[in-house]
Amino acid sequence: MPTPPHAIGFTLDPLDRMSDKRDDEAFVARLRDDPATRFLLFVKDVPLFKRTQGHDALFAAQEAAKFGTPIQTVLLGRDTDGRALFACALDTSVETAASALEAVPVEAIELRPVAMQGLVDAPIVSALGEARSMLDWHRRHRFCANCGHPTDDAGAGWRRICGNCRAQHFPRVDPVVIMLVTDGERCLLGRQPQFAPGMYSALAGFIEPGETFEHAVYREVLEEAGIRCSDVRYFASQPWPFPSSLMIGCFARATDTEIRIDEKELEDARWFTRAEVAAMLGGTHADGLSAPKPFAIAHHLLRSFVDGTGE
Ligand SMILES: [Zn+2]
Repeated sequence: MPTPPHAIGFTLDPLDRMSDKRDDEAFVARLRDDPATRFLLFVKDVPLFKRTQGHDALFAAQEAAKFGTPIQTVLLGRDTDGRALFACALDTSVETAASALEAVPVEAIELRPVAMQGLVDAPIVSALGEARSMLDWHRRHRFCANCGHPTDDAGAGWRRICGNCRAQHFPRVDPVVIMLVTDGERCLLGRQPQFAPGMYSALAGFIEPGETFEHAVYREVLEEAGIRCSDVRYFASQPWPFPSSLMIGCFARATDTEIRIDEKELEDARWFTRAEVAAMLGGTHADGLSAPKPFAIAHHLLRSFVDGTGE
């Protein structure tokens, strides 16, 4: 298999997470007070950006303080410049946050268009993805799944502890397989009703307990398109922070070719030739059909198929 391409969204320059330091409260407090440290601010699951020049997601401590005491803070790690990054969930509205800095306009923009349009550098997109997943997890795990009592955060935001039964709860990642099934010069793509008009993508589905990712690929392709496949091969993976999936990109070979669609999952599925996929990626398809943009791993599975490196 080729080296996975490096333009997949949410995968570039992951932070040094300093996980061995998370329980060192004095160390974490020193980092929080370090003037070089920066803060990613969120209202619910939407990140804030300073709009002086372009889009700037990095707030200094004295700027972050103007938004009030955060509901939740997580130490994300240290970037390649040695700066620590924290994620903060604010107890404010988008409207109030917009004018919190007086001289500097602040805008809330959903992370998906930020990533898709490349509004900030790729390493910041990755850090915003980590932040979004972590803050979402805290928001949805305020009560113990074991006994129902409130939980408190610990470990610089990387676990929650129940005050009653002492159970510890850790952030979860939901694995999803996304697979390009090939049949010689053709590959299988489908479209869900909520896709943009004319867009087709690789099939995907959550891995269920007790499954390997190879089993999940086989089951999902059979369920959604009625196609049996084999020879599942790993391609690359992508964190997908909506809210906390991990996309596991695979190739597989079809062992039969007659499509039977599960209409609850897919609006359409069909075989596309290599030339047709190349036109979809290049925006030149005769019928105006398209494929996912480069920030999505599906784009890179398709690009690899077109280049002949992924089968
Ligand atoms: Zn409990």
